[in-house]
Amino acid sequence: MPDFTLDEILAHADRRTLAAVVTHLSGDPDAVPDLRDREQIEAKAAEVLPPYLSGEKTPQPPNDEVLQAAMNHAVGAEVPAAYRQLAREQAGVGPVEPPAPLNPPDGFHVLIIGAGVTGVLMARVLDQLGLTNFTVVERNAEPGGTWYVNQYPGCRVDTPSMLYSYSFDPDPDWPEHFSHQPELLRYVKQTAERSGLNDRLRLNTEVERMMWSEAAGAWLVDVRDTVTGATEQLTAQAVVAAMGILRVPKLPDIPGRETFAGPALHTALWDKSVDLAGKRVGVIGTGASANQVVPAIAPVVDSLVVYQRSAHWMMSHPKYGKVLEGIEKALFQVPTYREWHRFSEGWKFGDGVTPMVTVDPSWPHLDRSVNAANDRMRAQLTEYLESQVGDRPDLMEKCLPNFPPYGKRLIVDNGWYQALRRPNVRLETSPIVEIDEAGVRTRAGHDDLDVLVYATGFQADKVLWPIQVTGAGGVDVTARMEAEPEAYLGVAAADAPNLFITPGPNGILGHGGNGMLFAECHVRYIVESLRLLFERGATAMTVKPEVLSAYQQDLLERLPNFVQSLTTFDNWYRGDRDRVIAIAPKSLLEFWNDTRSPDPEAYAFS
Ligand SMILES: Cc1cc2nc3c(=O)[nH]c(=O)nc-3n(C[C@H](O)[C@H](O)[C@H](O)COP(=O)(O)OP(=O)(O)OC[C@H]3O[C@@H](n4cnc5c(N)ncnc54)[C@H](O)[C@@H]3O)c2cc1C
Repeated sequence: MPDFTLDEILAHADRRTLAAVVTHLSGDPDAVPDLRDREQIEAKAAEVLPPYLSGEKTPQPPNDEVLQAAMNHAVGAEVPAAYRQLAREQAGVGPVEPPAPLNPPDGFHVLIIGAGVTGVLMARVLDQLGLTNFTVVERNAEPGGTWYVNQYPGCRVDTPSMLYSYSFDPDPDWPEHFSHQPELLRYVKQTAERSGLNDRLRLNTEVERMMWSEAAGAWLVDVRDTVTGATEQLTAQAVVAAMGILRVPKLPDIPGRETFAGPALHTALWDKSVDLAGKRVGVIGTGASANQVVPAIAPVVDSLVVYQRSAHWMMSHPKYGKVLEGIEKALFQVPTYREWHRFSEGWKFGDGVTPMVTVDPSWPHLDRSVNAANDRMRAQLTEYLESQVGDRPDLMEKCLPNFPPYGKRLIVDNGWYQALRRPNVRLETSPIVEIDEAGVRTRAGHDDLDVLVYATGFQADKVLWPIQVTGAGGVDVTARMEAEPEAYLGVAAADAPNLFITPGPNGILGHGGNGMLFAECHVRYIVESLRLLFERGATAMTVKPEVLSAYQQDLLERLPNFVQSLTTFDNWYRGDRDRVIAIAPKSLLEFWNDTRSPDPEAYAFS
C-alpha cells in the first residue's frame, strides 16, 4: 500500500466491507459488535490491518463462525448459512478444494462451439484438468463473444466489474467500476491467451450441422470457414455448445422496415464507419442497449428521436460511470477487501434480490408490484425517477413503467434520463405505424431521419439455432428445441448424447447472478459430467426422458411464481413465446447447488 496511509484507507473504506475484513482477519466473529459504529470499526481495523498491509501476515480462510459473521457484516443482514460455500468460492476467501484431474480415454475429443466468456472458460478448465484434446471453434475473427460483437457507442456492463470477472482472476486492473466493451473484450481475449488456448482455437469457423453417430460414438460436426467458405467435418466425442443466449439480433416487425434509405444499424451489428455527427437519428427501443447508446450519441447528433413502446425501471449505482483509481483502487489491495466487496456486490446483484421477484398471490397491489419488498423497491425506483425528471411532468409520465420492478431486466441508469432532457432529444411514445424511405411514421406524425438505430435486443429463444443438430435415432434436436425449448438444468437436451448446452433454455437467472458466474456453474457441471462418463467407462450419457420431463414440469409449475412470468407486459425472457424461455425460476443458491455435480441417476449411459 505504498501510496496511501492507513488513515486514508480507513477513511475511504466502505463501512460494511471493512467490518467484514476486520472480522475475517482478526478471526474473531465478535470483532465488530455494532455494525453502525464506524469509529469502532476503524479503530479495530487500525489494530488488525498493519501486519497484513506490511505482508508480515497473510489472510487465512475463515472458519464457519467467522465466515458467517463477515458475510452478515458485508451485506448488513443475516445471510443464511447455506451461502457459506458459495461465499468461499465466489468471493474467494476459501478454502475451495480444486477439482481432481480428468482422466479421459485415449482419443476423446471435445468440441467447444463459441469463444465467449463461457467457451473460453470451458477450454481453460479442461486444459487445466488434463483434458487437452479439445478444439474451440468461433465464427468470429476474434474471441470475446458478446464483447466482440457489441461495439456500439457506450456499450458496457451493468454488473460491477469486480463482480463481472472470473473468480480466478477477479481484479484485472479494471479501469472503471462498470467497464466498457473494449476492456471486457481485452479481458476475455487475455484470458484465452494466458490460458494458452490459441493453438486450439479456430477462428472464422462456424458450425453448421452436427449429427450423432451411434457407430462412432461421436458427433460428426460440419464446419465452414467464414472467410474462404471451405467446409470440413470434425469428429468430437462430446460437444459443448457455448453459443450465447443474446446472439440472434431481433428486428421489429414494422411495415416498410426495408425501405429506409439511410443506414439502419442494430446495436449488435454496429457499423463504425457510419458517422452520426450532425445527423438526425432515430433509436427504436428503450431497453438495456438503448440506455447505453442513447446517452453516448445524444451529444454528437443533430437530433435524436427515441421511440418507446414501454418504459423501463432504472436504478442508480453510486459507482456507475466512475473511474477506478487512486484510493478506491488501492482499497482492493487491502487483504480480503476485494473479496468482501465482491461478496457484498454479489449479494446486491444476486440473492439479495430474490425476495423481490417472488409473486405473493395475496398481495393486494398486483397491478403495480408483486409483494411488499417489490413494492418498496418500486417506491425507491420511482423516487429516483422523480429526482431525475420530477420537474418535467411530460417525461415523468412517459418514463414511469407500468409493470413491477424486475418484470423486465432492471437497468442501471447510464444517464438515460439526463439524455432525454436534452433539447435535441425527444422521447416519442406514439406507436410506430411504418418506416419509409425518409424516416419513421408514428400515429403522431412523421420524423425525417438520416440514420435509424435498432436497440431492439435479441431473440433469446433461439437455442442451438441455426445449427442443424441431428441427435440419437435421427431426432431433429434443433426443430424440437424450436417447438418446445427444454433442457435438464438448462444444459442437457433429450436425445442429444454428450451434448452440453451452455446456457440452454431456462439456463440462466433473470434477477441475479451474472454471465461469469453462470459460466462457472455450467462449466463445473459439464466437467463433472465428463468425469462421470469417464468413470463409468461409458461412451455416451443422455438425460433420461422421464427426468427431463419431471424437471420441466417442476419448472413450469414454478415459473408463474416469478415476476418475469406475468403476462401483462413483455420481456426478452419470454420473447414471442407463451412462457419464459430464457431464465430459471430459482434462487442463485439453488442454481449454484444444482450445477455442482450431475446426479448419475438422471442420465442413461451407453
Ligand atoms: C450488450 C450486452 C451487455 C451485457 N451486459 C451484461 C452484464 O452487464 N452482466 C452480465 O452478467 N451479462 C451481460 N450480458 C450478457 C452476456 O452475453 C454474458 O454475460 C456473457 O458474455 C455470455 O457469454 P457466452 O460465452 O455464454 O456467450 P457469447 O458471449 O454470446 O459467446 C458465444 C460465442 O459463440 C459463437 N457462436 C455462436 N454460434 C456459433 C456457431 N454456429 N459456430 C461457431 N461459433 C458460434 C459466437 O460468435 C460467440 O462468440 C450482456 C449482453 C449484451 C449483449
